[in-house]
Amino acid sequence: MKQNPKDIPVVESLRAGILTRDGFMGEDTRPFTQIIMDDAALLASAGTTPEEVADKMTELTKAGLTATGTPVDYQGFTVTVEEYMGKLGCPFRDHRAPKRNTEVVRKDGRQMAWTDLTIHLIKQHGFFQGKGSPYRLEPDRLAAFLFDK
Ligand SMILES: [Zn+2]
Repeated sequence: MKQNPKDIPVVESLRAGILTRDGFMGEDTRPFTQIIMDDAALLASAGTTPEEVADKMTELTKAGLTATGTPVDYQGFTVTVEEYMGKLGCPFRDHRAPKRNTEVVRKDGRQMAWTDLTIHLIKQHGFFQGKGSPYRLEPDRLAAFLFDK
């Protein structure tokens, strides 16, 4: 019998092959609650918050959405958004995010990429994903990237 996704515990739905092929944990063996706490400390020492970081990421994605699939220049960043069919479920079960990738290049050549689900995980759960997860963003690097620190 197929299990209703809503009944799968968070810990399990973070693993590879449950909601997404790669999952959200990478090779990280810390409990996800510990990852959230460790990253909160990193972000605090970078002088910002998950909300602030996620809001800036949303702003950049929105800028890219003005010309999907084409690089858009915005406040010293070049943003390219690609959209795909379907949605991805949040492992914490409160949201389904459109499948959308945002690639951002700064004038100094640094670049980062994220999905809408990545933004949601940061904003709503303070979760940057486990080390080795293909979509993990290092909180201090991300803050420096977004806010030119
Ligand atoms: Zn969520």
